[in-house]
Amino acid sequence: MNKPIIIAIDGYSSTGKSTVAKAIAQRLNYIYVDTGAMYRAVTLFCVRNGLIDSSGKISDRLKSMLKDINIEFRKSAGSETADTYLNNENVEKEIRSIETANHVSAVSAVPEVRELLVRQQQLMGQAKGIVMDGRDIGTVVFPDAELKVFMTASPEIRTLRRFSELKAKGENVTVDEVRKNIEGRDFKDTHREVSPLKQAADAVVLDNSNMTPKEQLEWLYEKVKAICEHD
Ligand code: C5P
Repeated sequence: MNKPIIIAIDGYSSTGKSTVAKAIAQRLNYIYVDTGAMYRAVTLFCVRNGLIDSSGKISDRLKSMLKDINIEFRKSAGSETADTYLNNENVEKEIRSIETANHVSAVSAVPEVRELLVRQQQLMGQAKGIVMDGRDIGTVVFPDAELKVFMTASPEIRTLRRFSELKAKGENVTVDEVRKNIEGRDFKDTHREVSPLKQAADAVVLDNSNMTPKEQLEWLYEKVKAICEHD
């Protein structure tokens, strides 16, 4: 496992991409990048700056304001995972809210937003040794990634997982709201014009409906081992 590789993880909303991505990054001592957090941070910027109207349409003003957005990941002392910072402010909690989630697919369909974030993501992966999760990592950001995984799980399981996650964080949501948000995002993410979510031809599918996080980690670790031993 000496030669570092790029692991690209794509898939539908709430399939547990970040859980398995973080775990494999930790095991391999790789960098983990949550690209969804970057799109969520841009969305929060839009909400705060009144760039989304009542029908959910994104203002054209966003394009000229993109230069005012700085997104970083920083680890706090004693923590294994990094928090998302928007212009020097820790926004990790706010970007996970249902309000941000309800607008993120519209913001991430703006071509200029994707261009900016994809460029930043490609720079982060230049030295390899990286695990990145999102919707277009294996297809657009790193089409030459050594390992591409496409994650899926049944809609019921995904809804319940996200519902429990939001509840544990103190969000006041119903199962129905969560289901609608997941279905809505999946539809928009797979139907948008620029970089729609789709399985890369050379991706391996991980359906984790009936798998524990530990089983998923072992599954993924075996795939990495097979690639690294082959090289
Ligand atoms: O992964 P997460 O659910 O946090 O992603 C939030 C949203 O960001 C997705 O629903 C999608 O609209 C957008 N996204 C994207 N491309 C990525 C990552 C996320 O369009 N690479």
